[in-house]
Amino acid sequence: MSIALHSAPRRRLWLGGWLSQAPAPADGVPPPAPAPVRENTAARLYDEVGEFLFAHDLPLAPDIFGVALAYLGGEDRELTLTIRERLRTEGRLDADFLRQLAEVRSGGIRPTTIARMADTLAAQLAQCLALLGESCTSATEYGDALDREVEQLDSPAGGGDAMSRLIDLTMQAVATSRQMAERLEEKRRETTRLRDNLDRARRAAEQDHLTGLINRRGFDARLQARKYAGEPADWCVAVCDIDDFKRINDRHGHDAGDRVLKLVARLLKTELAPDAIVARHGGEEFACLFAHADVDTTYAKLDAVRRSIAARSLINQDNGEPIGSLTISIGLAAVADDPVRAMRRADAALYGAKRDGKNRVAVAERGA
Ligand code: GH3
Ligand code: MG
Ligand code: MG
Repeated sequence: MSIALHSAPRRRLWLGGWLSQAPAPADGVPPPAPAPVRENTAARLYDEVGEFLFAHDLPLAPDIFGVALAYLGGEDRELTLTIRERLRTEGRLDADFLRQLAEVRSGGIRPTTIARMADTLAAQLAQCLALLGESCTSATEYGDALDREVEQLDSPAGGGDAMSRLIDLTMQAVATSRQMAERLEEKRRETTRLRDNLDRARRAAEQDHLTGLINRRGFDARLQARKYAGEPADWCVAVCDIDDFKRINDRHGHDAGDRVLKLVARLLKTELAPDAIVARHGGEEFACLFAHADVDTTYAKLDAVRRSIAARSLINQDNGEPIGSLTISIGLAAVADDPVRAMRRADAALYGAKRDGKNRVAVAERGA
């Protein structure tokens, strides 16, 4: 259903429950005293969101509500432009489109979303091609008509008429090509926006939003790329795991745990890059891929970062309580042929490092 926002009937949606806004007034109960200005502004914004959802026939789901709130609150310029463009070209919004935007915003993008975005982009490109085809056809038709009229010019009978028809034809051709140029320009802008959104979604899908490192999906994609690019097999892979991390969460809280994860990510990245691709492989585990590196050099680098982490004494920012020292264990494997198999060997070596007392680097036997 397509309803223009300004012509939507005003209907108050009471967004209770998870928004914990003001309850609907019961009959006969006097209205509540005016709230302070800041709350009024927020309440007005929530009301606007309700009206927006109603006007576009959108469901009141948390992800869609979040996008609508960000749009109407003007907090995300890119989002605002994307929604405006959609309204301009399609004249309406639908739940699927807003869910896609919600995913892009949260970074939790599913491959199906990316495939859908790529399909939309392909459809847009097909429209561009069709427009170009139309434009070629009309140019050819104009050329044919021109030929016919030029022939008439030679005949003494039709010469005068032919001249005025020639002028008409030319005027029509100019008007058509102007229209085509405008439609093509519009398609070009929309296609560029879709392509940028797709690029952003692809990058976001491979990023870990807590640490800013690439995530497991991004790491695995790079591993596969190396495997199929047929590059020389002198890579090393490593799996790093924080020791006794659960205890940090349990004693100091999840937020402190998150900050520790960010710190370890930063140290691994700064101390190992640019020689390695460093990823958050999941939970409190990080994966590294070293290009053109022998095991001894890689071991030395990993052991240096292990020592550098263990040398720190951490403090919980929230309350000043000491967290104490932090250690990591690392499994390292040379990539003989298959990087995925090497990751499994590095994992087994990590298990050995944990078993032998943690806070160490263990190297997998070649071919183990
Ligand atoms: P080990 O030395 O054997 O590795 O012990 P561990 O405590 O580090 O490992 P375990 O697998 O028992 O616990 C890992 C913990 O990591 C459990 C999980 O709650 C926590 N964790 C996973 N992801 C996150 C996250 O994003 N943030 C926080 N704060 N904790 C996380
Ligand atoms: Mg651990
Ligand atoms: Mg672990």
